[in-house]
Amino acid sequence: MRRFVEVGDSATSNVANTRRAEISVDPYVGENGYVQNAGFVHQPIAALERGSITGPVAVVLHRTVSTTASSALNSFSGGIGTHFLIDKDGTTYQTASLHEYTAHVGPIKSRCLAEGTCEAEEAKRLRRMGPRDGHNHEKVKPYPDRYPKNEDSVGIEVVAMYHESTESWDAPTPEQTSSISTLIGLLKRFYGFGDKDVYAHDTISRKTSGEGQGLYAGDDGAPQLRMPWQRGTHP
Ligand SMILES: [Zn+2]
Repeated sequence: MRRFVEVGDSATSNVANTRRAEISVDPYVGENGYVQNAGFVHQPIAALERGSITGPVAVVLHRTVSTTASSALNSFSGGIGTHFLIDKDGTTYQTASLHEYTAHVGPIKSRCLAEGTCEAEEAKRLRRMGPRDGHNHEKVKPYPDRYPKNEDSVGIEVVAMYHESTESWDAPTPEQTSSISTLIGLLKRFYGFGDKDVYAHDTISRKTSGEGQGLYAGDDGAPQLRMPWQRGTHP
Protein backbone atom coordinates (compact mmCIF):
# COMPACT_ATOMS: atom_id res chain seq x y z
CA MET A 1 0.00 0.00 0.00
CA ARG A 2 1.32 3.41 -0.93
CA ARG A 3 1.02 5.58 2.18
CA PHE A 4 2.89 8.64 1.05
CA VAL A 5 0.91 10.97 -1.19
CA GLU A 6 2.59 13.74 -3.12
CA VAL A 7 1.08 17.10 -2.29
CA GLY A 8 0.00 17.60 -5.86
CA ASP A 9 -1.82 14.25 -5.84
CA SER A 10 -3.64 14.70 -2.56
CA ALA A 11 -7.28 15.63 -2.36
CA THR A 12 -8.57 18.23 0.08
CA SER A 13 -11.54 17.50 2.29
CA ASN A 14 -14.97 18.36 1.12
CA VAL A 15 -15.73 21.91 2.20
CA ALA A 16 -19.00 20.79 3.78
CA ASN A 17 -17.05 18.51 6.14
CA THR A 18 -14.52 21.07 7.24
CA ARG A 19 -16.67 24.08 7.96
CA ARG A 20 -15.92 25.17 11.50
CA ALA A 21 -18.55 26.12 14.00
CA GLU A 22 -18.71 29.88 14.42
CA ILE A 23 -18.22 30.81 18.03
CA SER A 24 -18.69 34.22 19.49
CA VAL A 25 -16.08 35.37 22.03
CA ASP A 26 -16.37 38.74 23.75
CA PRO A 27 -13.42 41.09 23.52
CA TYR A 28 -10.99 40.84 26.44
CA VAL A 29 -7.58 42.17 27.43
CA GLY A 30 -4.99 39.48 26.65
CA GLU A 31 -2.00 38.65 28.81
CA ASN A 32 0.04 41.04 26.68
CA GLY A 33 -2.30 43.92 27.53
CA TYR A 34 -3.75 44.07 24.01
CA VAL A 35 -7.50 43.98 23.35
CA GLN A 36 -8.46 40.74 21.62
CA ASN A 37 -11.50 40.06 19.39
CA ALA A 38 -12.48 43.68 18.87
CA GLY A 39 -11.05 44.06 15.37
CA PHE A 40 -8.32 46.45 16.50
CA VAL A 41 -5.04 46.67 14.60
CA HIS A 42 -2.20 45.81 16.99
CA GLN A 43 0.82 47.94 16.19
CA PRO A 44 3.10 47.85 19.26
CA ILE A 45 5.45 50.81 19.63
CA ALA A 46 7.94 49.87 22.37
CA ALA A 47 9.06 53.48 22.95
CA LEU A 48 5.60 54.35 24.31
CA GLU A 49 5.66 52.03 27.30
CA ARG A 50 6.96 53.74 30.44
CA GLY A 51 6.19 51.30 33.29
CA SER A 52 3.32 49.56 35.07
CA ILE A 53 0.02 51.41 34.91
CA THR A 54 -2.07 52.01 38.05
CA GLY A 55 -5.63 50.97 37.34
CA PRO A 56 -6.27 52.39 34.76
CA VAL A 57 -8.89 54.60 36.38
CA ALA A 58 -9.74 56.98 33.52
CA VAL A 59 -9.57 57.78 29.80
CA VAL A 60 -8.08 60.94 28.26
CA LEU A 61 -9.18 61.98 24.76
CA HIS A 62 -6.87 63.81 22.35
CA ARG A 63 -6.73 64.99 18.75
CA THR A 64 -3.50 64.42 16.80
CA VAL A 65 -3.11 67.59 14.69
CA SER A 66 -2.51 65.43 11.61
CA THR A 67 -4.43 64.29 8.55
CA THR A 68 -3.29 60.66 8.62
CA ALA A 69 -2.76 57.87 11.13
CA SER A 70 0.69 57.10 9.73
CA SER A 71 2.19 60.47 10.63
CA ALA A 72 0.81 60.13 14.15
CA LEU A 73 2.18 56.60 14.45
CA ASN A 74 5.58 57.87 13.30
CA SER A 75 5.60 60.53 15.97
CA PHE A 76 4.63 57.93 18.62
CA SER A 77 7.99 56.23 18.05
CA GLY A 78 9.54 59.31 19.66
CA GLY A 79 8.05 58.07 22.94
CA ILE A 80 5.13 60.48 23.38
CA GLY A 81 1.71 59.09 22.51
CA THR A 82 -1.34 57.12 23.52
CA HIS A 83 -2.45 53.50 23.85
CA PHE A 84 -4.96 53.91 21.03
CA LEU A 85 -5.21 55.86 17.78
CA ILE A 86 -8.42 56.17 15.78
CA ASP A 87 -8.04 56.86 12.06
CA LYS A 88 -10.48 58.86 9.91
CA ASP A 89 -12.04 55.63 8.63
CA GLY A 90 -12.65 54.37 12.15
CA THR A 91 -9.74 51.91 12.22
CA THR A 92 -8.60 51.53 15.83
CA TYR A 93 -4.86 51.00 16.35
CA GLN A 94 -3.55 49.77 19.70
CA THR A 95 0.08 50.84 20.11
CA ALA A 96 0.86 50.13 23.78
CA SER A 97 -0.08 47.49 26.33
CA LEU A 98 -2.87 48.36 28.74
CA HIS A 99 -0.58 47.04 31.50
CA GLU A 100 1.78 49.95 30.85
CA TYR A 101 1.33 53.69 31.04
CA THR A 102 2.39 56.12 28.32
CA ALA A 103 3.33 59.82 28.23
CA HIS A 104 0.24 61.61 26.91
CA VAL A 105 -1.10 63.97 29.59
CA GLY A 106 1.75 66.24 30.70
CA PRO A 107 1.39 68.39 33.83
CA ILE A 108 -2.16 68.24 35.20
CA LYS A 109 -4.14 71.29 36.25
CA SER A 110 -5.55 71.52 39.74
CA ARG A 111 -9.00 69.98 39.78
CA CYS A 112 -10.14 71.76 42.94
CA LEU A 113 -9.01 75.10 41.47
CA ALA A 114 -10.87 74.42 38.21
CA GLU A 115 -13.99 73.35 40.07
CA GLY A 116 -13.78 75.98 42.81
CA THR A 117 -13.57 73.46 45.64
CA CYS A 118 -10.06 74.16 47.05
CA GLU A 119 -9.61 75.50 50.56
CA ALA A 120 -8.88 79.24 50.30
CA GLU A 121 -5.28 78.83 51.49
CA GLU A 122 -4.55 76.03 48.99
CA ALA A 123 -6.15 78.00 46.16
CA LYS A 124 -3.89 80.96 46.98
CA ARG A 125 -0.79 78.77 46.90
CA LEU A 126 -1.87 76.99 43.70
CA ARG A 127 -2.39 80.28 41.86
CA ARG A 128 1.23 81.17 42.52
CA MET A 129 2.54 77.86 41.14
CA GLY A 130 3.72 77.22 37.58
CA PRO A 131 2.55 74.12 35.67
CA ARG A 132 5.31 71.84 37.02
CA ASP A 133 4.94 72.83 40.69
CA GLY A 134 1.16 72.68 40.33
CA HIS A 135 1.46 69.17 38.88
CA ASN A 136 3.73 68.04 41.72
CA HIS A 137 1.26 69.43 44.23
CA GLU A 138 -1.67 67.64 42.58
CA LYS A 139 -0.14 64.30 41.63
CA VAL A 140 0.02 62.97 45.20
CA LYS A 141 -3.72 63.42 45.74
CA PRO A 142 -5.88 60.31 45.30
CA TYR A 143 -8.00 60.09 42.13
CA PRO A 144 -10.66 61.51 41.64
CA ASP A 145 -9.67 64.38 43.98
CA ARG A 146 -7.27 65.25 41.16
CA TYR A 147 -7.40 64.78 37.39
CA PRO A 148 -6.00 61.56 35.91
CA LYS A 149 -2.28 61.53 35.08
CA ASN A 150 -0.08 59.48 32.75
CA GLU A 151 0.46 56.80 35.38
CA ASP A 152 -3.22 55.89 35.74
CA SER A 153 -5.03 56.73 32.50
CA VAL A 154 -5.61 55.26 29.05
CA GLY A 155 -4.92 57.68 26.20
CA ILE A 156 -6.88 57.79 22.95
CA GLU A 157 -5.72 59.95 20.02
CA VAL A 158 -8.18 60.75 17.24
CA VAL A 159 -6.78 61.74 13.83
CA ALA A 160 -7.90 65.34 13.32
CA MET A 161 -6.49 68.70 12.24
CA TYR A 162 -6.50 72.06 14.00
CA HIS A 163 -7.42 75.08 11.89
CA GLU A 164 -5.51 78.20 13.00
CA SER A 165 -7.65 80.61 10.97
CA THR A 166 -10.88 79.61 12.70
CA GLU A 167 -9.27 78.27 15.91
CA SER A 168 -11.28 75.09 15.48
CA TRP A 169 -10.76 71.35 15.25
CA ASP A 170 -12.00 68.78 12.74
CA ALA A 171 -15.21 67.19 13.97
CA PRO A 172 -14.90 63.41 14.25
CA THR A 173 -16.10 61.43 11.22
CA PRO A 174 -19.14 59.17 11.87
CA GLU A 175 -16.75 56.20 11.74
CA GLN A 176 -14.51 57.79 14.38
CA THR A 177 -17.48 58.58 16.62
CA SER A 178 -18.59 54.96 16.43
CA SER A 179 -15.09 53.58 17.12
CA ILE A 180 -14.53 55.95 20.05
CA SER A 181 -17.81 54.87 21.57
CA THR A 182 -17.04 51.17 21.07
CA LEU A 183 -13.56 51.53 22.57
CA ILE A 184 -14.69 53.52 25.59
CA GLY A 185 -17.55 51.06 26.12
CA LEU A 186 -15.01 48.24 26.28
CA LEU A 187 -12.65 50.11 28.60
CA LYS A 188 -15.53 50.93 30.93
CA ARG A 189 -16.45 47.26 31.00
CA PHE A 190 -12.85 46.04 31.50
CA TYR A 191 -11.97 48.48 34.28
CA GLY A 192 -15.29 49.42 35.84
CA PHE A 193 -15.13 53.18 35.36
CA GLY A 194 -17.89 55.43 34.02
CA ASP A 195 -18.42 58.37 31.67
CA LYS A 196 -17.41 60.74 34.48
CA ASP A 197 -13.93 59.22 34.17
CA VAL A 198 -13.60 60.19 30.48
CA TYR A 199 -11.74 63.52 30.07
CA ALA A 200 -10.78 65.87 27.28
CA HIS A 201 -7.02 66.59 27.37
CA ASP A 202 -7.60 70.34 27.37
CA THR A 203 -9.80 70.06 30.48
CA ILE A 204 -7.08 68.51 32.59
CA SER A 205 -3.88 70.03 31.17
CA ARG A 206 -2.81 73.28 29.54
CA LYS A 207 -3.62 72.43 25.92
CA THR A 208 -5.22 74.14 22.94
CA SER A 209 -8.86 74.72 23.77
CA GLY A 210 -11.17 72.05 22.37
CA GLU A 211 -8.47 69.45 21.68
CA GLY A 212 -10.39 66.61 23.28
CA GLN A 213 -13.92 68.06 23.19
CA GLY A 214 -16.86 66.77 21.14
CA LEU A 215 -15.41 63.29 20.63
CA TYR A 216 -17.58 61.32 23.01
CA ALA A 217 -21.12 62.01 24.17
CA GLY A 218 -21.29 59.36 26.87
CA ASP A 219 -23.77 56.56 27.18
CA ASP A 220 -24.02 55.74 30.91
CA GLY A 221 -27.64 54.89 31.56
CA ALA A 222 -28.40 54.39 27.86
CA PRO A 223 -29.77 51.01 26.81
CA GLN A 224 -26.98 48.55 26.08
CA LEU A 225 -26.15 48.74 22.38
CA ARG A 226 -25.58 45.58 20.46
CA MET A 227 -21.90 45.56 19.56
CA PRO A 228 -20.78 44.35 16.12
CA TRP A 229 -19.09 41.31 17.68
CA GLN A 230 -22.25 40.27 19.55
CA ARG A 231 -23.55 37.86 16.97
CA GLY A 232 -25.62 34.88 17.86
CA THR A 233 -27.82 34.58 20.88
CA HIS A 234 -25.47 34.08 23.81
CA PRO A 235 -26.54 36.06 26.87
ZN1 LIG B 1 -3.46 65.76 23.79
